[in-house]
Amino acid sequence: MKNKKILVVEDEESIRKFVKINLEREGFTVIEAETGEKALEIAETEDIDVVVLDIMLPGIDGFQVCKELRNKYSTIGIIMLTAKSQDVDKIMGLEYGTDDYMVKPFNPLELVLRIKSLLRRIDANKPENDEIISYGPFKIDKYSRQFFKDGRHIELTPTEYSIIKLFIENPGKAFTRDEILNLVWGYDFVGDTKIVDVNIRRLRRKIEDDSKNPYYIETVWGVGYRWRRDHNLSGGDYEK
Ligand code: CA
Repeated sequence: MKNKKILVVEDEESIRKFVKINLEREGFTVIEAETGEKALEIAETEDIDVVVLDIMLPGIDGFQVCKELRNKYSTIGIIMLTAKSQDVDKIMGLEYGTDDYMVKPFNPLELVLRIKSLLRRIDANKPENDEIISYGPFKIDKYSRQFFKDGRHIELTPTEYSIIKLFIENPGKAFTRDEILNLVWGYDFVGDTKIVDVNIRRLRRKIEDDSKNPYYIETVWGVGYRWRRDHNLSGGDYEK
């Protein structure tokens, strides 16, 4: 976790410093921004791994910052901070592309755990080998960590990429929401599996022909989700 750069965006100095101290203790390099405008500026020049992003900011708010960051840098990790639990539905909404969130007041150790888990997800997506996995119209290029449908590149967040890789490597296997949380997020998420459902909804919008009637990502009622095993789609065959 050394040399990882975390951008902390929070206008309240006491919280910003508190987060900074705790992250630096873990060996992270921390850059601070007190506004969203400043955060976007910094993201342009610095190679940021994860952004810890407060929602309530003077000027443009955290939602807007999240959206702009996601548009420009699909592989950056984003953890939102919120003071209100009712914001969580919005945070997890389809349009923002958040990887995780924390409700204030939060335990700094928990934030550290979540950052580490997110970094593992981002790293897991870094070039592994030159393997290409094909499945029907889909192709995952593990080297460039890119995902294609019918030869067209589809932008995925680190979390979405991890989910799709898990699915395509295990066609036909039903995963519970808890299993997906464990395998993708890397920890038990104190019962909040909503984050899984939202990511699946986002993925369906990106990859399905008709996201209202998903074909590839099947819902397994009362369980979770399953990647359709279809032998016509050369299920799970690997090609170099
Ligand atoms: Ca704030």
